[in-house]
Amino acid sequence: NNYANVMGIQFPKHTLDRTVEILNEVVERRPPELFHVITVNPEITMACRKDAELRAIVEEAGLITADGIGIVMVSRVRGGNLPERVTGYDTLIRLLESGNRKRWSFYILGADAAVNERACEVIAERYSSLCIAGNHHGFFKQDEEERIVEEIASLAPDILIVALGAPYAERWIYKHKSRLNAAIAIGVGGSLDVIAG
Ligand code: UDP
Repeated sequence: NNYANVMGIQFPKHTLDRTVEILNEVVERRPPELFHVITVNPEITMACRKDAELRAIVEEAGLITADGIGIVMVSRVRGGNLPERVTGYDTLIRLLESGNRKRWSFYILGADAAVNERACEVIAERYSSLCIAGNHHGFFKQDEEERIVEEIASLAPDILIVALGAPYAERWIYKHKSRLNAAIAIGVGGSLDVIAG
């Protein structure tokens, strides 16, 4: 069995390395439908029990990862044996490394304006061969959302990074999935704050 069932969620038994390998294949293949990656933390896992819509979002994702040592431990007690925890931050760093080697384009959405700008500067400096096609802070008003979606769609990035907090990022990606025109979209929680320092 390639999946471990933890609290009703089917987690594929992938290491971080394997996860990154799959995402590299997705960028190369560039399927017509956006590939939504969800790093499922304990909060999302719990929320899914009561929130059928969030549960459907998780079930429809291209790939989910176990973002919590508790999820990994529970899988072991049940004999499901998830190999390791795969966090949003670690996945983001590995995507930036791959993108730097392969010259992918990124759109960086989320965090406050200062953190977003600083994170983009740090990324551009550390990963100088990737392209930051566009960026926007995560405290936009409802009437600005349409323009942001259109901007992302017109830039057609390989990777859309969404740092809006969980599960808002996951809902946001899902809502606009058919229009975003990115190969991969991933919610990364507070990762931009970490990168900005
Ligand atoms: N954030 C945002 N827009 C919002 C709410 C939050 O851009 O409307 C950003 C916030 O600035 C932070 C990130 O979302 O950079 C993640 O926040 P948090 O650490 O609370 O989320 P988690 O890591 O638990 O997903």
